[in-house]
Amino acid sequence: MKSLIVANWKMNPASVREAKKLCGETKRLAGLLKGVSVVVCPPAVFLSGLAAGARKGRVSFGVQNVHFENRGSYTGEISPVQAKDAKASYAIVGHAERRAIGESNDDVRKKVDAVFAAGMTPILCIGEKERGQGAEHFTFVREQLRGGISEEAGKKLSRLIIAYEPVWAIGATKAMEPRQMHEMSIFIRKTLVERFGSVGHNITILYGGSIDASNAGEMLRDGDVTGLLVGRASVDIQAFTELLRAVSEA
Ligand code: PEP
Repeated sequence: MKSLIVANWKMNPASVREAKKLCGETKRLAGLLKGVSVVVCPPAVFLSGLAAGARKGRVSFGVQNVHFENRGSYTGEISPVQAKDAKASYAIVGHAERRAIGESNDDVRKKVDAVFAAGMTPILCIGEKERGQGAEHFTFVREQLRGGISEEAGKKLSRLIIAYEPVWAIGATKAMEPRQMHEMSIFIRKTLVERFGSVGHNITILYGGSIDASNAGEMLRDGDVTGLLVGRASVDIQAFTELLRAVSEA
């Protein structure tokens, strides 16, 4: 099975010229390497320009956020149908950096539903802010799963992607240990099976948080994940090249 690598460019790079260069190199590599599927999530202003010239199959595109309504008076927002029309097949929902500016589980749930309704694949981000000695992080993650997935979305669970990103490992110096991720993957599957039945066993789970070429292979081998959500390393051509090669060899 191919590893799914989601490149979350966040608010980078500064110009369309740089975005085209980065995307071009990503496409070239994705076409060359075996065992890797890449989803590029650029800033929405670059999306149409990058996706327009893309040959089918090399990379797919996604947005980093969407509103849950399809049109209306929502200054500064983009809607799922607009994202779809601009050639996004995926939408990241509930990223920690959006939750940090007020996005709630209720907002996230409505967005997941809206993304499905528009015919795209939601990448639902979950993850605790901090980890103590106890098991509170499991309670927190269960709550995000409960609050972020509606009964309706549960019917499409096999098409939902969960990105587990412990907030303390995002933008940090060190990723989480693969064996901790393995434990979390088991917990996520178990939580989904309890609510939605056996379809929960096969849910696609990504890990995100300080992934680069040095730790990507290990995480894919030992973390019980199908892929990775990558921030910083996805906007540095050299770092991303090394990362994709490491993934392809894993
Ligand atoms: C992220 O923000 O989703 C992320 C994983 O960032 P980084 O890889 O830079 O830690």
